[in-house]
Amino acid sequence: MKPEKINTLKKVVVIGGGSSGIGVIASIRKRVKDADITVVEPNDCHYYQPAWTLVGGGLFDISKTRRAMRDVIPSGVSWLQDSVVRVDPDETYIETRQGKRVSYDFLIVACGLVLRWDKIEGLEETLGLNGVTSNYRFDLAEYTWKLVREMQGGKAIFSQPTLPIKCAGAPQKALYLSCDHWRRQGVLNNINVNFCLAGTAVFGVPQFVPALTDYLKKYRAQVNFRHNLVRVDGKRRQAIFALDSDSDEEDKREIALPFDMLHVVPPQSAPAFIAQSGLSDGSGWCDVDKFTLQHKRWQTIFAVGDCCATPNAKTLAAARKQVVVVAENIAALINGAPPTAHYDGYGSCPLTVEKGKVVLAEFGYDSKLLPTFPLLDNTQPSRMAWWLKAWFLPRFYWAGMLRGVEWLAKSKP
Ligand code: FAD
Repeated sequence: MKPEKINTLKKVVVIGGGSSGIGVIASIRKRVKDADITVVEPNDCHYYQPAWTLVGGGLFDISKTRRAMRDVIPSGVSWLQDSVVRVDPDETYIETRQGKRVSYDFLIVACGLVLRWDKIEGLEETLGLNGVTSNYRFDLAEYTWKLVREMQGGKAIFSQPTLPIKCAGAPQKALYLSCDHWRRQGVLNNINVNFCLAGTAVFGVPQFVPALTDYLKKYRAQVNFRHNLVRVDGKRRQAIFALDSDSDEEDKREIALPFDMLHVVPPQSAPAFIAQSGLSDGSGWCDVDKFTLQHKRWQTIFAVGDCCATPNAKTLAAARKQVVVVAENIAALINGAPPTAHYDGYGSCPLTVEKGKVVLAEFGYDSKLLPTFPLLDNTQPSRMAWWLKAWFLPRFYWAGMLRGVEWLAKSKP
C-alpha cells in the first residue's frame, strides 16, 4: 500500500550521500511532502560497492559501479558539497569543514565507515603495485583482476582484519573467484593459496560455514586463524602478520609470509566526528536503538547504514531495510506519533563461491536466518542467488533502491 504523504516544512539534514543516505532520502520523500532536505556529501561520485568483488573476478564492468553524485541526488534536495566535522545535538546544528553551520529538525547520520589503510604499516605506498591489491577501492578492483589473470603459479594471500567490517564475506569472495578462475585455467595446482584472518571462524553464522569450508577445501586454500596483517613490505613481497594467541602478551609473535599476490582488506572504524560530537557508544559507532534506529539520547537524530552501532552485518542489504524504518519513524514523529517501525537486523552476504554460484547468507539479529525465499536452502550454493547478485541487484539498486522502491523491505511495527 502506498504510504499517505504528510505535509511539513521540517528541515531534514542527511550526513552522507552514499547508499543509505540517498536511499533514506528517497524513502522519506515517498512519505513526506515539502520537507526541506539537505544532504552533506563531499564526493562528486556515488558508488555501488557490492559489485567491486565481481570486478576483481573479471565478471563486471567497473564503469557500471559509479555515477555522478548530482545524478543520484533526488531533484528538490539541496546538496552541500562539504564534509561534516561536528554535530551539536543540543543546539541542533551540524558544522562543516568549510565552516558552515546548518540547523536541522531531524538529522540522519549516514556517513558510512572509514577504511583504515593507515593501520597497516607500509601498505598505502604499495597498494596497486608489487602485487598488492584490494577490492575495497574502486581504483584497485581492476588491478585485482589483472593480477588474477596473469598469475600462473606462486603464492597468493587473502587477508581479513578484525571485525566489524563492511561485507564481512568480501575478503573470502575475492579468494573464491580468484581460485575458481585459476581452477578453470588449470593453474590452481601451481598456486599456494592462504586465507589469513584475524578472527577464529570463516563466517559468523555457523549454518553457512560447512558450504564455505567445502569450497576452501576444493580450492586447497590454507586457512590461518588469528593472523592479523600488521605490515607489508611491497618491494620484498612480504606480508607480516601478528599471531594473536589466547595466552599472555609474551606469546605474541609475528610471522612474515612471502607473496606474489596479496589481497588486503583493511581494518575499519567509524568516522571520528561521531565520537567527537558525543553521538557514539564506547566503540565510536553511532549509538542508536537497534530496532527503531533512533539515537538513544537525542530523539531527533537517526542513523542508517555502516555507521550504526547496531549488531547487524554492515551491508547494503541491511541499509535497504533500515532506510524504510528511518523514513517511517521520522514521518511518525512529524505526525506527532511515536516511532514504532522496527528493523529486525536483516543483512545479507552473497558469497560468490564460484562463477555462476552464490551462497546467499541472509540473517538478522542473533544470527537468526531470514531467507527471502524460504523454500530454497540458502545454506547451499545456488545459480538463482548468482543471478540475483550479478544481474538483478545492480540494476535494482540504481533504478529501485535509490528511487524509493521498497520491495521486500517492509518494516515491522
Ligand atoms: P557508503 O555507501 O560508503 O556511503 C557513505 C557516504 O558518506 C560516502 O559517500 C562518504 O563520502 C560520505 N561521508 C563520509 N564521511 C562524511 C562526512 N564527514 N560528511 C559528509 N559525508 C560523509 N553489501 C551487500 O549488501 N552485499 C554485498 O555483496 C556487498 N559487497 C561488498 C563488497 C565490497 C568490496 C565492499 C567495499 C562493500 C560491499 N558491501 C556489500 C557493503 C556495502 O557497499 C555497504 O554496506 C554500503 O555501501 C553502506 O552504505 P552507507 O551509505 O552506510 O556507506
